[in-house]
Amino acid sequence: MNLLKEITLQIKEEASRLGFAACGMAPAGEIDGENCRFMQQWLERKDYAGMEYMTGNLDKRMNPALLVEGAKSIISVALNYYPAQFIKPSEYQFAWYAYGEDYHTVMKDKLYALLQFIAQRLPDTEGRAFCDTAPLLERYWAWRCGLGWIGKNTQLIIPHAGSTFFLGELVINTELEYDTPQQSRCGNCTRCLEACPTHALQAPFRLNAARCLSYLTIENRQDIPDFAAEKMGNCIYGCDRCQQACPWNRFATPCQEPRLTPKHELLSMTREGWKQLSIDEYRRIFKGSAVKRAKYEGLMRNIQCVQTAAQKKKDGLSPE
Ligand code: SF4
Ligand code: SF4
Repeated sequence: MNLLKEITLQIKEEASRLGFAACGMAPAGEIDGENCRFMQQWLERKDYAGMEYMTGNLDKRMNPALLVEGAKSIISVALNYYPAQFIKPSEYQFAWYAYGEDYHTVMKDKLYALLQFIAQRLPDTEGRAFCDTAPLLERYWAWRCGLGWIGKNTQLIIPHAGSTFFLGELVINTELEYDTPQQSRCGNCTRCLEACPTHALQAPFRLNAARCLSYLTIENRQDIPDFAAEKMGNCIYGCDRCQQACPWNRFATPCQEPRLTPKHELLSMTREGWKQLSIDEYRRIFKGSAVKRAKYEGLMRNIQCVQTAAQKKKDGLSPE
């Protein structure tokens, strides 16, 4: 076995030891023409809704090698977040990814541990770790690194594991042995498109964020439009329906990372408790959690929307 191959294997073994479910490598450089055009069309249609930051740093988004001087390789990793315990179905729901500690911190800690491991073996290695914090097309690079394929629901799907994974990347100045991208295994399936309650998935791979409950209940700072509020059901933070509908997620296994375990307070909270949530309780329950992204006002807005929609339904004023 040559040295490059051996070091690459050691990095993958260390990634597994750190708790990553998958790890792969690709040469750093420009994204391919097809995906570049797809991205440009998505931006032209303004499908990013209010996420204006998506229009910035396009040069880096199209070529993440610009993020690190002398970049040669991208390492993509996946961290499982499929819950080991769920909120009771009768209570208000949160997107699964938000159950535990903020994934940005968990992922970055593990990525820097992996970078340290690489630097011990390849002493001239320098690089940076990313997790949803830089203009880097994470799902595209996970595909290029051979982790899985991008499903019609726009999620990265790992064969025989599903899509409930956080993605993270190291961009480093060292060459490695590279993986081969996988073919899509969505086939004729369209279950995710059918399951999307707001038709945010307007065609395969085409997500209009302005209609997506994940965007509308988390990033969005405005009122939630009526058409979306009526479809929230009992979800007060995010939406997992296009993942829950995906047959590949029947292979999901409970996450083993203790930091992603939900707090008892989150699991035991009742609808009544959420309605009366004070800002101090919010700060305590969601300390170090990704739910802080929506802010207290956003979460209370979502709760109000769900309540109003339920009342309208009860009064026969809703089409549902
Ligand atoms: S997260 Fe929900 S609203 Fe958004 S695309 Fe998926 S199913 Fe549709
Ligand atoms: S639900 Fe079907 S079409 Fe959608 S991502 Fe999963 S396999 Fe692909």
